[in-house]
Amino acid sequence: MTPVVVVGAGPVGLSAALALRAHGLPVLLLEADPEGRERPGSRALFVHRETLALLDAMRPGLAGRITDHGRTWHTRRTLYRGREVYSRTFPPPSGRPPFTSLRQVDTERFLRDACTEAGVEFRWDARVTGVRTTASDVTLSCADGRELTCGHVIAADGARSAVRAGLGIPMEGTHGDGFHVVVDVADRPGAELPLERVFHYEHPGAGGRSVMRVPFTGGFQVDLQCHAGDRPEEFGTEEAVRRWLPGVVGEGYGDSILWVSTYRFLRKVAASFTDPHERVLLVGEAAHLFPPFGARGMNSGIADAAAAADAVAAKTADAVDGFAEVRRAAALFNSAAAGTALDHLRPRRRIVRLRQRAAAVLAPVVPSCGSWLEHAPYGPRNGAPALAGRKY
Ligand SMILES: Cc1cc2nc3c(=O)[nH]c(=O)nc-3n(C[C@H](O)[C@H](O)[C@H](O)COP(=O)(O)OP(=O)(O)OC[C@H]3O[C@@H](n4cnc5c(N)ncnc54)[C@H](O)[C@@H]3O)c2cc1C
Repeated sequence: MTPVVVVGAGPVGLSAALALRAHGLPVLLLEADPEGRERPGSRALFVHRETLALLDAMRPGLAGRITDHGRTWHTRRTLYRGREVYSRTFPPPSGRPPFTSLRQVDTERFLRDACTEAGVEFRWDARVTGVRTTASDVTLSCADGRELTCGHVIAADGARSAVRAGLGIPMEGTHGDGFHVVVDVADRPGAELPLERVFHYEHPGAGGRSVMRVPFTGGFQVDLQCHAGDRPEEFGTEEAVRRWLPGVVGEGYGDSILWVSTYRFLRKVAASFTDPHERVLLVGEAAHLFPPFGARGMNSGIADAAAAADAVAAKTADAVDGFAEVRRAAALFNSAAAGTALDHLRPRRRIVRLRQRAAAVLAPVVPSCGSWLEHAPYGPRNGAPALAGRKY
């Protein structure tokens, strides 16, 4: 049987390959980078419970391996200008944790190992440069001149997807002008910070910029929301981080900085998630880009991967059509939700800032105000972001 080809060995491509194997289909995975490459940074930390369930259905036992390695915290705190406005510690749940937090490189390692066990064939150093589809098949061209023809391709080749570009499918949406700085910091053995997620509005130690701190196995990620008018070189270089980090997490972490990145606010969704012949299925960042609030990028990408594999296994054009329609609707939902979070985090209207300030004043006597300040940075909660619209 001709294998289904997956392009891209990021978390979404690896998940798609596993999901196809779970359907009993042979899979060839093409990755542009060489085997053993080093991927930088922690990036997507947060793996939702729904995503863990999807991964376990693709490879039983995989969710357990990931959660055994990841960290789950039970305390969430929100501060406003140095004063706590929300703090809640939840009892540890019985059964699977509600989420786990680990570096994306670690998630990818678990996925890659699972793919190898499941019999996925990897081809590294295989950059796809072109794509042609007909009613019956799809042909990929690679940078080394090789061509490859198969029945379906799942394209998980990331934000600059060559497959999407080859099909002439545009990305539609907005490009915000702000940025934030993401910093990974290693724990100091014996002096670990409390295991809690903290969001701090208008942090006095960061010149009034909002800051989030999220633990992961071996360290924590600090996310600094820069003001409009801030310049990346003032905040986003390692030297600049050494200047502002002590005001946020205390002294002594200068030598523990693992990775610094600036992240721009793109909200874009592909105009279509498949080609006119319904032979190529776009998933993950090849299909959508969101700001990271609410952890929608990788989580929804893994849901795309599961749905794409179901559609390919169903072997009908209707199933591919259904995948494209439903996952695009999910991406639009996630894009709008991330936009709502972004409006809250970078309020353009004075009234929003005033509302936040009033909520912070009222929080000690009206707990719902503190709760609103706690939840709003992640966008609306109705509809699980990872799975929005998964059924078709
Ligand atoms: C600073 C930063 C912070 C982030 N934080 C979060 C977060 O907190 N939460 C969250 O959910 N998400 C976050 N993200 C986004 C998250 O990292 C992405 O959603 C995730 O990596 C997308 O996975 P993917 O597999 O679709 O694409 P990618 O991870 O980009 O993988 C694409 C793969 O395709 C390969 N490839 C590219 N072109 C070709 C080609 N032509 N041929 C063959 N292979 C190719 C690449 O080498 C790569 O291996 C963050 C991203 C960044 C940069």
